Amino acid sequence: MVTNSSPRIAVVGAGLGGAAAAALLQQAGFKVDVYEQASEFSRLGAGIHIGPNVMKIFRRLGLEQPLEAMGSHPSHWFSRDGASGEYLSRIPLGEFARKEYGAAYITVHRGDMHAMQIEAIAPGTLHFDKRLESIDDSGDDVNLVFADGSSARADIVIGADGINSRIREELLGPERPIYSGWVAHRALITGDKLRKYNLDFEDCVKWWSEDRHMMVYYTSGKRDEYYYVTGVPHEELDFEGAFVDSSREEMFAAFEGYHDTVQALIESTDTVTKWPLKNRNPLPLWSRGRLVLLGDACHPMKPHMAQGAGMAIEDAAMLTRCLQETGLQDYQTAFELYEASRKERASRVQQVSNANTWLYTQEDPAWVYGYDVYAQEIETESVA
Ligand SMILES: Cc1cc2nc3c(=O)[nH]c(=O)nc-3n(C[C@H](O)[C@H](O)[C@H](O)COP(=O)(O)OP(=O)(O)OC[C@H]3O[C@@H](n4cnc5c(N)ncnc54)[C@H](O)[C@@H]3O)c2cc1C
Repeated sequence: MVTNSSPRIAVVGAGLGGAAAAALLQQAGFKVDVYEQASEFSRLGAGIHIGPNVMKIFRRLGLEQPLEAMGSHPSHWFSRDGASGEYLSRIPLGEFARKEYGAAYITVHRGDMHAMQIEAIAPGTLHFDKRLESIDDSGDDVNLVFADGSSARADIVIGADGINSRIREELLGPERPIYSGWVAHRALITGDKLRKYNLDFEDCVKWWSEDRHMMVYYTSGKRDEYYYVTGVPHEELDFEGAFVDSSREEMFAAFEGYHDTVQALIESTDTVTKWPLKNRNPLPLWSRGRLVLLGDACHPMKPHMAQGAGMAIEDAAMLTRCLQETGLQDYQTAFELYEASRKERASRVQQVSNANTWLYTQEDPAWVYGYDVYAQEIETESVA
């Protein structure tokens, strides 16, 4: 049990958003403890895009340079017709992104990035094996009770506990997330498997057809690991957990008629998993009393803009700014300012991401990538 009389913040969940919130709040001088249900984090087999909007936040944490060194730097996001290979869009990234959007666009191994984020949290303040079971906001403070029987008190609690958030349930009641009707297949392929093909494996390319796609990119600058993630219509699966095994056969069937490059990727696949894609309708409230939500707990989305973590990390940065502005004592105002400053953008990204139209045509992505959370006015207009 944690006992301390000075004001403190509990972050529940040390995923991509919670880890960012903890490190940013600690950097700003707040006393923060993080409670994570997992007993440790493994190197989940997946990649992630990190846009310039997010790199600007990692800059504050001193993580921009190590991520740049670790990641792949695609010159473009290409969209191509799945069957013919015809280019549908060529969105410039690389040096263009640095100049126009103020930071690099990288693709990286998700586990490597997360490990770096975890290291940025102050030693001794991240508590594993702490699955939040119940929470009691007495008005004066909050008591958190964990599955191992331990408990902790905090002045405010940030629910960064993902799509099945316990804190969201506390605010709005139990409700299962909505199955979108699509799964994502995920596979990592070692670079040496691709050398035998006389094909161009581009740095960052999305292959599209009417109802499905495959997004492909490198997870490191060394190009030793190529990653694909799909969106494919699928009947609802009945299982506990986040993913099940898929197979090369299933992939060949799902992408029959697709370009030779896609066939080569499937042929080179050793292990592939499939993840049901779930989301929720926009929430009617983001906070109540001493509890506030961020990231997937608040606005989960289909991953087709590669900005879900981006929104969670932007939330973390804006919430930190609002708490700095008001001080922890006036957390109510901070929560109102935070929601007013974040809701419109997060909802717009959620909507575009769910529609799966992002960069299909030669559109201008500046409203997403050019955004700098630190350059935004804190939205006070709609706050009384
Ligand atoms: C297939 C796929 C591809 C994606 N690709 C991208 C991409 O390229 N770019 C991008 O920006 N986003 C991407 N996303 C989205 C991104 O993964 C999520 O939006 C992001 O992880 C949300 O961060 P979060 O911190 O809110 O939640 P999470 O990262 O899910 O973290 C939640 C944490 O809370 C913990 N937790 C849950 N319940 C409890 C509890 N009761 N007590 C204690 N701890 C608890 C969990 O163990 C977990 O560690 C993708 C998602 C999917 C499914």
